[in-house]
Amino acid sequence: MLVGNSFVGLLMTVMSFSGLVFFFESDNRKIEELKLIFWVCMMLVSLLRLVDASYWKFKLSSTPFSPNPVIVRFAIGVFATGSLWGLYSVVLYSSMSELEVASTMVVLSAMAGGAGTVLSPKKELVIFYCTVLLVPMSYCALLDKTGNFFMLGTLGMVYWVGISLSAFRYHQFFISTLHLKERNNNLVKQMSIERSQTDKINQLLIASNEKLDESNANLEAEVERRTQELFRLSNRDPLTNLLNRNGFLKHLNDLLETTKVLQNSLAVLFIDLDGFKQVNDSLGHKIGDLVLVEIANRLRNYSEKNHLARWGGDEFVAVIPYATVDTAKAVAHAMRSGVTIPINANDNQVTLDATIGIAMCPEHGDVAVDLIQQADLTMYDQKRKQRGTVGVFNETLHAEIKREQRLCERLRSAIDNGELCLFYQPIIDVTTGHVSSIEALLRWTCDGEIISPDIFIPLAERSGLMPEIGTWVLNRALIDLSHWDFAEPLCMSVNVSITQLIDDGFVKVLDSALNSTGISPQRLYLEVTESVFANNADLVTQRLHELVERDIKISIDDFGTGYSSLHRLQSMPFDFIKIDRSFVQNTSEESDTIIRATLLMAREFRCKTIAEGIETEAQRAHLAALGSDYLQGYYYAKPMSASDFISWYNKNY
Ligand code: C2E
Ligand code: CA
Ligand code: CA
Repeated sequence: MLVGNSFVGLLMTVMSFSGLVFFFESDNRKIEELKLIFWVCMMLVSLLRLVDASYWKFKLSSTPFSPNPVIVRFAIGVFATGSLWGLYSVVLYSSMSELEVASTMVVLSAMAGGAGTVLSPKKELVIFYCTVLLVPMSYCALLDKTGNFFMLGTLGMVYWVGISLSAFRYHQFFISTLHLKERNNNLVKQMSIERSQTDKINQLLIASNEKLDESNANLEAEVERRTQELFRLSNRDPLTNLLNRNGFLKHLNDLLETTKVLQNSLAVLFIDLDGFKQVNDSLGHKIGDLVLVEIANRLRNYSEKNHLARWGGDEFVAVIPYATVDTAKAVAHAMRSGVTIPINANDNQVTLDATIGIAMCPEHGDVAVDLIQQADLTMYDQKRKQRGTVGVFNETLHAEIKREQRLCERLRSAIDNGELCLFYQPIIDVTTGHVSSIEALLRWTCDGEIISPDIFIPLAERSGLMPEIGTWVLNRALIDLSHWDFAEPLCMSVNVSITQLIDDGFVKVLDSALNSTGISPQRLYLEVTESVFANNADLVTQRLHELVERDIKISIDDFGTGYSSLHRLQSMPFDFIKIDRSFVQNTSEESDTIIRATLLMAREFRCKTIAEGIETEAQRAHLAALGSDYLQGYYYAKPMSASDFISWYNKNY
């Protein structure tokens, strides 16, 4: 600030000093020369100060620097200028005219007044400058012998005191202004720092917001994708990509809602493939899967999207909205013909058929699970009558289902109520004519009515009661056997169903029954039907091996009625083959051929044969002549209660 203001001060100095030197001429040459010397000195000092001020001004604008050397040099300049002024006024006072003294005093006062504000940042400089400018000249005026300038001198001194005092005030004001300015600057600086920080934070916030938006969008997409995937997994069958049970039930419920509201009709079709198990069995699961995918694709041609589902295994369900019984039948027949076209799976030609059951809404019901169950039972019933056909749910079936449900309820408490008992039928050794073993056959007396095992055993299997019932049979048969005290120890044949066999607790049950009765395992024969080999072949094989390890004998029941492959049979351990009574009682050539083939095969497998259903002497003689090892049937004895059997045995042997 000092340097900046000095340009005007220097200009004033140069002009006023030149004015005083050259305006008032003196006759005295020496005085003139002295004035000139003073002028040259003043000009020189002013020039140096100008250069110095310009230098610092320039430097100030380009680079920051320490203010101390500037102030020192500036102070030297002020000191030189002030000294020149003071010297000039004192040295030349005596040679000055009255006008010149007055003018010089005015000029010095003006210069001192200007300095009071211009130099106020440095109060020492103001004091010095005013003092050297005013005091010597005022002093000379006060002491002037003429006494003309006493007043001027007094005014000069008063002015000096006034300027000095106001210099303090100006200085104070300047300092506080400077502080204020500095505070302002700091404030502005702080604000700009804060603003730049705010800007930075804003930028970061914007960037992180963008990132957040982006990751939110990604997250939403991921959630959407996973939801769809979850939906797909929980509602679709991975093999065929058709709906699964879950998905179909949801869909059918929705359709039923609208059907009810619009008072329309709807058909549910239960489609079961015929012959698929054999494909799986003989060609393996890979081919089986290919076949299922192909069948699913073919069925798709006859139903709309999401109206078809894989119910499980080789079962499919379809829904046909707005269908009458006739249209439902027509679609079912079309589906059947689609299924029967030969399938080429990895160079294997496979021909299947389908049995289809139909249930109608609202005729047969309007609840999804009921309709599906009715269609399923219709299919099941149809399959029993004739495979590869289409059937519609009806009242008779409805009554049958109701009866089945009632029986099922009763069967649950049959053991506790003592409604079950075992009948025994002897199996005769052809060579000795003696009883070799006896077959335990289950009987259920429900409300005084004897229910056939052909009816209640499949029921028990479907409702999961078979393992419990089977356990009871096994224990009862072995307990009875342990109580009998015949001359020849008999063996006991017990029928075992597939659900019993694959039950995890089966072997344990067996062991404990043998242990508790003390019957040796060699005296126990277990009869499994040929059909057990169709499912869970690996588990069944493993289970049978566990039994053989215990010296228990295995019979294959109802041989010839199932579809077991010879390859599979070969890997199963068994001791007896029971020729089904349908072959024994049929007198046709074909039946004979089958019996002969079975006997031959049994010989190859090194196992014995039992012919079931011998009712007549002719049948006995025929089967004995063909080479059957054992015979069983009404010809010898019907199944009897334990006590009847004891009497029968004692009477005959
Ligand atoms: P299955 O094992 O083939 O039993 C032989 C069936 O043929 C018995 O029928 C028996 O009474 C009958 N039968 C025996 N000899 C003759 C005959 O000369 N002529 C005729 N027409 N029939 C004869 P049942 O007792 O009604 O048993 C039917 C089926 O129920 C059995 O067939 C068997 O598969 C099943 N079963 C019976 N008891 C049990 C059991 O405790 N457990 C299991 N899992 N199934 C059983
Ligand atoms: Ca049997
Ligand atoms: Ca049988």
